[in-house]
Amino acid sequence: QPIVVWFRDDQRLTDNPALAHAASSGHAVVCVYVHDPEPHHGRPLGAAARWWLHESLRELDGSLRSLGGGLVLLRGNEQETILAFAEAIDAIEVCWNRRYSPAQRQTDAAIKSALEARAVAVSTFNGHLLREPWKVTRRDGEPFQVFGAYWRAARQDISPAPPLPSPDALLFHGTPESACANAVSLADLKLQPHAPDWAAGLRQTWRCGESGAQQRLRHFLDGEFDGYATHRDEMARDATSKMSPYLRFGNISARQVWYAALAAAQAQSISSEHLRKFQDELGWREFSYHLLYHCPALHEVNFRPQFDAMPWRNDQHALRAWQRGQTGYPLVDAGMRELWLTGWMHNRARMVAASFLVKHLLIDWRDGESWFWDTLVDADEANNPAGWQWVAGSGADAAPYFRIFNPVLQGQKFDPQGEYVRRWLPELDRLPAASIHAPWQTAPGQLAAASVRLGDTYPLPIVAHQQARLRALEAFETLRGQR
Ligand code: FAD
Repeated sequence: QPIVVWFRDDQRLTDNPALAHAASSGHAVVCVYVHDPEPHHGRPLGAAARWWLHESLRELDGSLRSLGGGLVLLRGNEQETILAFAEAIDAIEVCWNRRYSPAQRQTDAAIKSALEARAVAVSTFNGHLLREPWKVTRRDGEPFQVFGAYWRAARQDISPAPPLPSPDALLFHGTPESACANAVSLADLKLQPHAPDWAAGLRQTWRCGESGAQQRLRHFLDGEFDGYATHRDEMARDATSKMSPYLRFGNISARQVWYAALAAAQAQSISSEHLRKFQDELGWREFSYHLLYHCPALHEVNFRPQFDAMPWRNDQHALRAWQRGQTGYPLVDAGMRELWLTGWMHNRARMVAASFLVKHLLIDWRDGESWFWDTLVDADEANNPAGWQWVAGSGADAAPYFRIFNPVLQGQKFDPQGEYVRRWLPELDRLPAASIHAPWQTAPGQLAAASVRLGDTYPLPIVAHQQARLRALEAFETLRGQR
């Protein structure tokens, strides 16, 4: 009787506890992935994430085939599909690495009890996080709401088990084709865009999957890691790890990243400041999962209920200008175009672009969150809503609402030469650094010399900063006294 490894957000062979468990069980192994296009409880994947998933599954299947097996792909409702599959192949056990949103936990719990009721054993593992979200609590047993306190408690005894090696050999229960008559092909999952194929920029930017994760991590640790704390906000610089999509799909585990960073810091005598800052960022990911685990619907519900009364504006024209990178604020537009073309955006640009939507345009953070959800390759159930709620001020430990980023000053500070803006807004390429973050304040002669015609080749600002700022503060005032 075979044992089933159900791959989900853990698309790797190394440090995969469910796979390691199956490999050492003595039973023949069947590896399976179920694509549920319309999950009953959870969130359907966005378009950029579907593109990544396609590439990632292709690589995973290739790696499993090189060990003599392959990945069985199935399509349909997760619960019905896994139950029917386990029955069809007479599985003795199904194992998986855990997921954390309330909807996913509900699905997994239902599948676990249905399998156990049919005498199929179930084993589950932590393959996604450094600490299980329920294991870090305040003294009174309640979940944390403040990152600093959470991370102090979490990292105190953060000795994640060392990453597990990839299994050298697996005894497969036939090939995917012979294991299941209902198996579909990767193309059948229809994850990739057709007509139009908008993914050219994504293909150019990323090497997906487990091998891509390892290559990118090495590149970072051997290069910009030694300077991370100093340069991580400089948007023109490739100074961050770009691990986010790999962590999202589990092409690499947080433990692997943690251990590799520790080892690199020791081997290269890198200042503890850089290591610590990098670990803190991994800590923010842990904190987001802590919130996701404890909050019923992080992407729908304001963590602070008083934000339910926020007088958001319904302005489709402004929302569209923001989505297309046409707000007239170069830093915001550069970030939004980087997102559209590559499926990723620098963290500083995410903060500024998100703040612009929520505060300058007074548009509900949920509209921005769903655009990011659709366009980010790292669109993450925990990090995305937590990031948006942090920016909006509605989240746990959020930036105060009245602290409003000025996109011009942010550009001048974190992109002083305008290289980031030039990279994504070629129409402003010839503007001098001194005016690139505020073209509307530039002398007409200079604009003409740079072939910039405001309102034609590049938009005028969609809102004036000072007025928008005051409008946002007034709106925020209306929340005072709300519970
Ligand atoms: P690095 O600086 O190299 O950090 C290493 C890892 O730490 C990242 O890969 C990520 O897993 C984690 N991390 C870093 N910063 C944060 C953070 N602020 N919050 C949580 N985890 C963090 N991150 C996502 O992974 N998916 C999202 O959908 C997402 N949406 C966001 C939306 C908004 C509005 C904001 C402000 C932030 C969002 N982030 C999201 C967090 C952050 O922007 C990205 O994780 C980071 O830019 C990824 O780049 P990196 O891998 O080079 O990060």
